[in-house]
Amino acid sequence: MTDAPLLIVGASMAGLRTAEGARRAGYAGPIEFLGAEAHAPYNRPPLSKELLQTEGHGHDEVAFPIRSALEQGVTWTLGRAAASLDISRRVVIDEAGDEHPYRALAIATGLRPKPLPVDGHALTGIHVLRTLDDAVGLRTSLRPGANVVILGSGFVGCEIAATAAKNGCAVSVVTQSAVPLERALGPELGGEVRRRHEAHGVRFFPRDGLFGLVGDPCVERVILSSGVMLECDVLVVAIGSDPNTEWLAGSGLDVSDGVLVDGGLRALTAEGAVVPDVFAVGDVARYPNPLFDGVARRVEHWNLPTETGKRAGQLIAAHLAGENCEPLAAAGFAPLPSFWSDQYDMHLLAFGMTYLADRRELVAGALDDECVVEYHRGDALVGVCGIGMRSLVQSYRSRFSVPTAAV
Ligand SMILES: Cc1cc2nc3c(=O)[nH]c(=O)nc-3n(C[C@H](O)[C@H](O)[C@H](O)COP(=O)(O)OP(=O)(O)OC[C@H]3O[C@@H](n4cnc5c(N)ncnc54)[C@H](O)[C@@H]3O)c2cc1C
Repeated sequence: MTDAPLLIVGASMAGLRTAEGARRAGYAGPIEFLGAEAHAPYNRPPLSKELLQTEGHGHDEVAFPIRSALEQGVTWTLGRAAASLDISRRVVIDEAGDEHPYRALAIATGLRPKPLPVDGHALTGIHVLRTLDDAVGLRTSLRPGANVVILGSGFVGCEIAATAAKNGCAVSVVTQSAVPLERALGPELGGEVRRRHEAHGVRFFPRDGLFGLVGDPCVERVILSSGVMLECDVLVVAIGSDPNTEWLAGSGLDVSDGVLVDGGLRALTAEGAVVPDVFAVGDVARYPNPLFDGVARRVEHWNLPTETGKRAGQLIAAHLAGENCEPLAAAGFAPLPSFWSDQYDMHLLAFGMTYLADRRELVAGALDDECVVEYHRGDALVGVCGIGMRSLVQSYRSRFSVPTAAV
């Protein structure tokens, strides 16, 4: 099927970067996007920050520009989810039953928030935050004086807490961990994040969980496992995400935790065989990173849809041009993960995989001011994070390198 397109399932950042990467590497053939959301690709970080507090902001404010290379030969099928993949026929079937043949397939379906962990889904006033529509729905509820309970203290939970507090809401954060961002940043920096939130009036309920909900038809109170009862007009569930891979069930791909790929972003079976013409990129992809160790992981940071998309686009272009991709796929892929978070006037910037650390060291500044913390596992530097001190944090980028034995 030589006239079939490069089919990209998931019309968001990773999918867009894959298309751009393929064009840049010389692929001039047809491209089709199949995306579950009705919106053209947009940027998610503002959803928990500016967009959540600025009335009237919508898709225009967060849309990614579509580069001129993608103005020709690109079909957008939006508001339509993929329902299954038939590898033997090289076709994706969407939820309406329409078939989408492909020459190469890029899976870019990302994640969705984990659902409410107790009964009560029928109540109104319960929110998650992943999409633009989620953000617009939540924004209208964050009015001054509203009792907002946030379940989860990861980046999304903390950023919503900061935005809601700035909006004049009464904010409570319920978390299973001892301090917010504990897994990502460790107890010292996490404790400092908690202190700064509390200075803005946010209340924390650590080592606690959700036991039940009261209300009809709107949530009115949440009952915590500790027995504490909190008044609640708005409950935000921010307890992590699951990969969108159900549509790949029965396809033969390893989707045990996201889509397992090799260093060339080529999808693998559970037996480790490369699946012909199928790639995965962005948050949904699980791949090894020799900068740290050989363990395949999903990493949910903003720079990785770009890194994986660029890399997959290059391989796809070579593959569709009939080149032998093995040398390209075998060349190391070792992107440096990077993330940032804005909460109040606190700007966090990090590089690496801080959560792999068994030891942390404050190397500059003071926790209650601007500072830089190094993260080590054994003798190896695995991450760095700063509050402020951007140029010092940036200077660490060159200090991460692939161990000689892995090259
Ligand atoms: C609220 C929020 C704030 C964030 N803030 C930061 C930040 O400050 N800093 C940072 O480093 N990172 C941040 N991130 C993370 C970053 O935005 C993500 O890593 C990035 O968006 C992942 O891009 P993606 O294209 O892989 O996946 P996604 O952006 O999730 O896109 C996947 C797309 O696939 C679609 N899809 C799903 N299933 C199907 C299907 N079956 N068929 C067709 N389409 C489907 C989805 O609808 C979606 O449009 C934030 C994320 C969120 C949600």
